[in-house]
Amino acid sequence: MTRDYRNLIGGELRAAADGGLLDSVDPSTGAVWARIPRSGPADAEAAAAAARAAFPAWSDLPAAVRAHHLRKVASVIGEHARELAELETRDNGRTITETSRRDLPAMAYLWGNAAAECTAAVQGRTVDFGPGSLGLTRREPYGVTLGVIPWNSPISTFSAKAAFALAAGNTVIIKPAEQATVSSLRLGELLADVLPPGVLNVVSGLGEEVGDPLVRSPEVDKISLTGSVGTARAITRASADSLKPLALELGGKSPNIVFADADLDRAAPGVTTQAIYTANAGQICYGGSRVLIQRPVYDEMIDRMTEIARGVRLGAPSSPDTTMGPIVSRDQFDHVTSYLDLAPEEGADLVFGGRSGPDAVEDEALRNGFWVEPTLYATTDNSLRVCQEEIFGPVAVALPFDTEDEALALANDSPYGLAAGVWTRNLATAHRMFRHLRTGTVWVNTFRKVMFPLEGVKNSGYGHDSVLAYTREKAGIIEI
Ligand code: NAD
Repeated sequence: MTRDYRNLIGGELRAAADGGLLDSVDPSTGAVWARIPRSGPADAEAAAAAARAAFPAWSDLPAAVRAHHLRKVASVIGEHARELAELETRDNGRTITETSRRDLPAMAYLWGNAAAECTAAVQGRTVDFGPGSLGLTRREPYGVTLGVIPWNSPISTFSAKAAFALAAGNTVIIKPAEQATVSSLRLGELLADVLPPGVLNVVSGLGEEVGDPLVRSPEVDKISLTGSVGTARAITRASADSLKPLALELGGKSPNIVFADADLDRAAPGVTTQAIYTANAGQICYGGSRVLIQRPVYDEMIDRMTEIARGVRLGAPSSPDTTMGPIVSRDQFDHVTSYLDLAPEEGADLVFGGRSGPDAVEDEALRNGFWVEPTLYATTDNSLRVCQEEIFGPVAVALPFDTEDEALALANDSPYGLAAGVWTRNLATAHRMFRHLRTGTVWVNTFRKVMFPLEGVKNSGYGHDSVLAYTREKAGIIEI
């Protein structure tokens, strides 16, 4: 039986004002398993009004009291970690091993960390202008902040946008993605009595129907989006008249660069299961979708990658034996599989994989799910669309290179600049790559070790979520 979830607005659990609902689909079976509010402008207005009303009291709380509230949130997430992990796994298909062992424990930690940073958010500076004049600054919250989140890591993105904003004294509205909303609504439900009413609000629905009215609301003072470039452009246009500050954490086409001197025992999993053939099927913004390999080890790396890909087990995301889940939705499946058609047309060679839908999974019960097997193409032409566009699935491209300069040129020849991986034993190479790669994060001899800020360059956006990023610094000069 499906369950209907509700929004959290002003401390109350509410259906959409007009009663509208959207189906939530289990991506491993294609079956509807829950329903979520299809909210609209009236719900956006109610959430914005509730957040505005709660702001003065919340922002006036001493930092230590706000920290106490956030520690309670961390405890609630810790107590309900298994349930939230199961909901997230059901909703977006990421394996239970990853949601329960990695995501949820990390989120309880993140909220605790935000609690510890509450005092940083109230620390200003003083400047001595001489005996009769003192300059000082105070950090102030923006007011009401809106976190617009994607479907690929709902609780993580929810937490990054809510915890730091709340720590800084803002009140918050979270707008989850329509493809995977349930874990966010359940977290809202769990927190309804934990935080004062209106301090945190969660409103589900479609981007154009409820996201856009929230973006345009005069009550919303700052917006942080994690999502696609197209949505970033829509939000930038919609907020242009009011000049709202934005943080835009967008997509990527991350290069993962293997030098001939690398420890291949670490690099091979580092460019496959760690980077792109992951628990949520490569649907990660910083997924290592371009694998650049120095020629002397090219063939050996291809062999090792092929061997590792053979061991990836697609299956029920709720099974601890499964190592890779499905694509989140029918639309995203169509998007990813369109590249399986395009790549050979463009002249890329299939190295392994390429099967999708029922052909990619053995379990009969999962044949209507959105499956794509780990896939690798090889080419020498980085201008191909499969090398330039974000596919956002378990599909990577291998490109050979000869010199460090060539690797750098290939890596930077991308409209995106979110993250990069470098595999080498040479410290000088590591430092040169760290300096010259045009990405927000560079991992050396590791990949996907997330640390905030996760900030991009170029089409990967700008701005990030951290406690200080949710404050402005106000200056005062006092003549004594
Ligand atoms: P999306 O841009 O389609 O949707 C993101 C959110 O924006 C959803 O909640 C959606 O409802 C909302 N939205 C859509 N149109 C809107 C509008 N006009 N006004 C207000 N809100 C609107 O992205 P997605 O498909 O859910 O997620 C995948 C994308 O997110 C990929 O490009 C991925 O790389 C990116 N991503 C980036 C990061 C990062 O930290 N940089 C992390 C995860 C995902």
